Amino acid sequence: MHLPLAVLPLLAATSVAKVHHPRREPCAKLLDRDVCIIGGGSSGTYAAVQLAEKGHSVAVIERQDHLGGHAVTYTDPDTGKPINMGVILFHDIPIVRDYFGLLGVELGPADASGGAITQYFDFTTGAAVPGFELPDQETLGAALAKYGTILQERYPDISLAYNLPDPVPEELVRPYAEFIEEHGLQAIVNLVNSIAGGNGNLWERPALFGIKVFSPMLLAAFNKGFINAASGDNRDLYRAAEKRLGDDNVILSSTVTKVERNSKGVKVTVDTPEGKVTCKGKKLLVAIPPTTESLKTIKIKLTEGESRLFRQFKGVLYGSAVVTNAGFNDSTALSNIGTDNPYNLMSLPGTYSYSGESGTNKVRAYYGGTESNIGLTEEEIKALITGELDNLERAGTIGEGDTEFVFFVNHSPYHVHVDSETVAGGFYKELYEVEGKTNTFWTGAAFVDQDSSLIWSWSEEYLVPLIVDSLKK
Ligand SMILES: Cc1cc2nc3c(=O)[nH]c(=O)nc-3n(C[C@H](O)[C@H](O)[C@H](O)COP(=O)(O)OP(=O)(O)OC[C@H]3O[C@@H](n4cnc5c(N)ncnc54)[C@H](O)[C@@H]3O)c2cc1C
Repeated sequence: MHLPLAVLPLLAATSVAKVHHPRREPCAKLLDRDVCIIGGGSSGTYAAVQLAEKGHSVAVIERQDHLGGHAVTYTDPDTGKPINMGVILFHDIPIVRDYFGLLGVELGPADASGGAITQYFDFTTGAAVPGFELPDQETLGAALAKYGTILQERYPDISLAYNLPDPVPEELVRPYAEFIEEHGLQAIVNLVNSIAGGNGNLWERPALFGIKVFSPMLLAAFNKGFINAASGDNRDLYRAAEKRLGDDNVILSSTVTKVERNSKGVKVTVDTPEGKVTCKGKKLLVAIPPTTESLKTIKIKLTEGESRLFRQFKGVLYGSAVVTNAGFNDSTALSNIGTDNPYNLMSLPGTYSYSGESGTNKVRAYYGGTESNIGLTEEEIKALITGELDNLERAGTIGEGDTEFVFFVNHSPYHVHVDSETVAGGFYKELYEVEGKTNTFWTGAAFVDQDSSLIWSWSEEYLVPLIVDSLKK
């Protein structure tokens, strides 16, 4: 239980006699498993469930007190309504339906907009941008069809993972904005930017990343529609996964203190509130972001090859918050654009969108920035959001109201990627070659992209069979 700091001195002052409790010996636990998995977010949980289904023993070691990673939900205390503040939508494809079906979680159609019509303003001024216009439906449809055809004809193999031709085509290494210009696809920019919110300065990064974010699989999903947990709370999937895997196989609130790997197997040592746990495994699956900073948190000694690759990864700032502000009503949906920026893209760091959550007095906010904004503190981000809402109020875009934060989460590092020279140098070919070495496998968005349906498809098609094969040897 978390007690507010202010209460602690009061408790100390009122304790008259010291009560001696028998010292609780932390109980050490040894788990012998086929696969020890570090990270119980989208990729780690999916792999755990599928490996267990195939008869392999697993243990998932997760830092938080629940599984789910970016699948976070704010439950409105006034109405009891769950509001997904991380993962909102899944593609309507068999793999998603099968996974939910296996875990007994009912699915329903998803509508992220809540029916509100989005309006566009520059949040740095709070005002509309003169001359800004969205393309008409016909122009947008034609551009999307052209985009789909180009990707299908030129890059059919990067739909799932980063399976790049060798040598890497020059146009994939040049900025995404150039790809869009050269193919006359300007009409899709606003749509990509709203779908790709969270990816920071995507337009300046290699076209490869734009194509991965706004992928052929996503285009197909637009035609089919999206789905999510029928309850409206996507964490239900992870609650069900936790139950199916069983208490002995899900190690929550854990701090990894040591990872040992050799040709015979692996050993992960973990501190938990209940005591020390050691997972001895034939294989290790690392399912946390493979950036230097994140990997430091599991004290893993990387091989020279792993270290050379992973230290090139960088992520961007991305997160979400729920605020109250009387100037909003629950049908207000505002999207951020930039007055003087190319394609009227919003300025970063900033908030991608504000939307009133239907039936509540709460407003969702999704904020983000570039690689260089990743160190912004919670206070700095909250000040940025409050400043934008003040701008919108001053410009008369929203009514009068003070901003109060009722929920805040920072999902960084998000969209873990590498720079253009690194892509050109064959990084992704080498990346997949680390799989299985030193009895270790790697997974997560950095290996596929930030999309659960895509991660699960790749895991099903490639990663899980690879692990299963390695267990037979
Ligand atoms: C705001 C937001 C909205 C999104 N919307 C969607 C959407 O609508 N649809 C969709 O498909 N995707 C969406 N995504 C993307 C999706 O969440 C990611 O693609 C997916 O979660 C990536 O899975 P992962 O396993 O790589 O990482 P995560 O899900 O982040 O899992 C990593 C896990 O590792 C754990 N971990 C980290 N360090 C340690 C440590 N030292 N020890 C133990 N555990 C550790 C973390 O706590 C976490 O549980 C969204 C993401 C965000 C942030």
